[in-house]
Order: sequence, then structure tokens, then C-alpha cells
Amino acid sequence: MREHNELYIDGAWRAPLQGAVLELTDPATGEVTGRVALGGEADVDAAVAAAERAFVSYSQTTAEERIELLERILVEFDRRAEDLAQAVTAELGAPLSLARGAHVPTGRVQVATAIEVLKTYAFTELRGETEIRKEALGVAGLITPWNFPVLQPTGKTISALAAGCTVVLKPAQLTPYSAVILAEIMDAAGVPAGVFNLVNGRGSVIGGTLSAHEGVGIVSFTGSAAAAEQVAVAAAPTVKRVTSELGGKSPHILLPDADLGIAVNTAMTWLMSMTGQLCSAPSRTLVPRERMEEFLSVLVPAVEALKLGDPRAEDTTMGPLISAEQWNTVQRYIRQGLDAGARLVTGGLGKPEGLEAGHFARPTVFADVDNTMTIAREEIFGPVMSVIAYDTVEEAIAIANDTPFGLAAYVTSADPTAARAVAERIRAGYVLINDAEFDWSAPWGGYKQSGNGREFGPDGMSEYLETKVIRSS
Ligand code: NAD
Repeated sequence: MREHNELYIDGAWRAPLQGAVLELTDPATGEVTGRVALGGEADVDAAVAAAERAFVSYSQTTAEERIELLERILVEFDRRAEDLAQAVTAELGAPLSLARGAHVPTGRVQVATAIEVLKTYAFTELRGETEIRKEALGVAGLITPWNFPVLQPTGKTISALAAGCTVVLKPAQLTPYSAVILAEIMDAAGVPAGVFNLVNGRGSVIGGTLSAHEGVGIVSFTGSAAAAEQVAVAAAPTVKRVTSELGGKSPHILLPDADLGIAVNTAMTWLMSMTGQLCSAPSRTLVPRERMEEFLSVLVPAVEALKLGDPRAEDTTMGPLISAEQWNTVQRYIRQGLDAGARLVTGGLGKPEGLEAGHFARPTVFADVDNTMTIAREEIFGPVMSVIAYDTVEEAIAIANDTPFGLAAYVTSADPTAARAVAERIRAGYVLINDAEFDWSAPWGGYKQSGNGREFGPDGMSEYLETKVIRSS
């Protein structure tokens, strides 16, 4: 049983000034796993005040000093890697293999990359006689979602710290365990008091207060478009910088010569094995009409071979959804797909047999989907794929771009030149060709309603920097 009764503010664990206690349950079994203290507005005020005080000296540290600090953080991160993986499995229900193999390493990359970035980043530049400086922007309010509970809090925190900003982190309510470990990592690494603060709590309360706060210079938000809008509105009166990383409905175009084995691998890795809870999941698959049945004949056996169950079992390949609310949302979308006349190829409504206690959804594939259907337009955030037929590559590109989102896209083709040409025409922030791996240090972010700003690596750190010009006579 995990008990976290305190918030991490000004270099110490302390009881919330106001707030409540939240009980968390295991997404796979429904059993209570622990209790977490939720803070209130007064706790945000205390955390921001601590971060403002710490900013005075921390923002003046040299890049070399910050490299030393990040190196100490990396040592502690590695020491706690298994604890982080266990926390992700407990709070999110991700299979332990995925927690160890994806959730934790993608967070670690952020620390290692920031160290390398700081070694060469030009914080000052001379253009003629004009000096252009990049300076820490101020206190960073970081608001993160539940689906990547190590990567998102670590990535934002490390980029901010590398830039010389101080931090108030507000993680998702449903995934506080890994954020508590992150705070313990910061503490053990000797991060100075007030430089990193953790306030768990409700989105509208903690996130809202942070977004509106006069002491906060930048809010970096990752989550839903609905909450992003509220953050932007709350932040507007103080004209603070707001970056947002939002959802997607990412297309996967199979060109006519696509290797179906590669295409299915992309679908299984980035949609199904993540239980669809990935912002960049390839949830719309665009297939040449004449290859539709052939594609389904390779896809469906792979989907039906998924092993759902105990996330701690080694042979489990797909975990539950995080919550009953998320399960209900996914059911609603499957019902909409059926009502709209999409062809259910596998999966469907309800829970898989024997897994009724957890929030398990059946991995579902719809074929003959029209891009105007709700299941093709809205982010489901569950293991539901819409397969859409196309007649020409031009039409495929048009369908891929016919979405309010623009986070990621995938192209599969035997011809790398043709795949690249298609990739260049898709309006999305990240395109993977032929099942390429993500580079988690490359700039991450969306076009259109998938957000604004970029995270990770040098581009991510730049978001936390202000530009100053100094000229002398
Ligand atoms: P959410 O918007 O419900 O919550 C995200 C965070 O915002 C949480 O910490 C929440 O407590 C907080 N929040 C909620 N209401 C708020 C408010 N009014 N003011 C300030 N903060 C508020 O999203 P979620 O359900 O946790 O996450 C799923 C969403 O996140 C999906 O849409 C997914 O695509 C998106 N996401 C995007 C990326 C990306 O990099 N683009 C990465 C992961 C997840």
C-alpha cells in the first residue's frame, strides 16, 4: 500500500495546507493501491513563492553547474529505475515489460540528452556588435497527463532545469506515484530547495491556479484540448507563455507496395500494445482499396493474439485502460462505430472474458470506415483502429490531412523515396516511415489542434528561455 501524505515544496516534504486525500485503485484489478494527498490553492502559492525565491540564484548558475546537477539527477534516476517501472504499472496498468522497456527509458533519455545539449548550447551570440542572450524565463508551471507518467514530468522538468528555470510540477491525479519518485530523485540529487516543487491535486484547482498565477512565467501543458483551452484562458491576463501538447488522430498510410508485416508491426507497437493510450497512436489506417482484405488477414490474427491480463505477468502484451471513465469512453466510441455502419472486424463492446474486474477493453478493428465518422475524427484513446480504404495516393494524403489534429503520421512503403514524398505532404509534427523508432530527443509537438510549441532536446529547452539584446555604445 502506497501512502503519500505530503507535497514536496521548498526542498521538504510537508502536509498540504489545504486539500483532500485521493484513493487510487489498480486498473487491472480494482484493488486499492494507495492514498495520495491532494493540495489546494494555498499549496500552489507556497510552491510558486519557493520557486520564485530559488529562481534568483538558480537562474544565475552556469551551464557547467547545471550539467553537474543533471548528472547527479541521472545517477539517482538510474538508481530508482525499477521503482519507477513498478509505479507506472501500479498507477497506469501498463505491462511491466512496457514500463521497463518504454516508460522509464524515454524519461531517462530526457536527462541524458539535456546534459549533452548543455555542453554545446550557445546561450550568447554576437551579431556584429550586438549581443543576443538566452536567459531563464522564470518559474515554470508544468501540467502533465496520465498516459506517460515518467516521460512527461521528467521531460518538462529537465528541460526547465537545464534552461535555469525553477519548477512547480502538477502531475495527473491518476498517476501521482511516479511523480513522487521523481521528487525523491530530485531531493536525493541535491537539487537546491525551491528549484523543484511537486503539488499533486485536481486539474481545475492546482492546474488552474498555476495557469493564472502572477509568479509563473511559463505554463507547459500536456493533455486534452478542453483543459488546454482553460489553461490558455486562465493564463491570458498575465500574458505568460503557454505551450501545449495535445491529442491526435494520427494517420498511417500504407502505400500500394507496402510490406504488410511492417505495417502491422507499426499498428501493434504504437496503438494496440499501448492500449491505445498514446497521443501519437496510429488510429486511422489508410489502405489501398484493392489490398484491404489482404491487410485485414494479416492484422486480425496479430490483434487476436494479444495477451490481455495481469500487467506484472511476463507474457502480458496489452494492459487495461487506466480508469472506469476511460473504459466507458472507449465503449461509447465502439457503439458509435457500430451505429455509423463501420464493419467490426474483431473486438467490440464489453470486457474480455475472465477480466471483468479490471478496466480491460477488447482490442477492436473497424474496416470500411469513412473519414467523416466520429470514430475517425475524434481521439478515442483506446485500442480501437479505424481502417479506411483509398483509391489514389493523392486521396490518401487528403484523408490523412482531413483532421483537426496534426501530431504524428506513419507511412509504410517498399519505396523509400515515395514514402518520403508522402511524409513531406502530411501536416503533422512527426512522421515515421517503415516502422522507424521514435527519437525521443527530437522536437516533439503538433500542428493544428495538436498543440503549439515543441518539447524535448534543445528545442524543448528553448521554450524555457527568454531572448535579451544588449548593446553598448
Ligand atoms: P487532461 O487534459 O484531462 O489532463 C491533463 C492535465 O491537465 C492533468 O494534470 C489534469 O489534472 C490537468 N487539468 C485538467 N483540467 C485542467 C484545468 N482546467 N486547468 C489546468 N489543468 C487542468 O488530459 P489526460 O486525460 O490526463 O491526458 C490525455 C490527453 O493528453 C489525450 O488527449 C492525449 O492525446 C494527450 N497527450 C498529449 C501528448 C503530447 O505530447 N501531445 C502526450 C500525452 C498525452
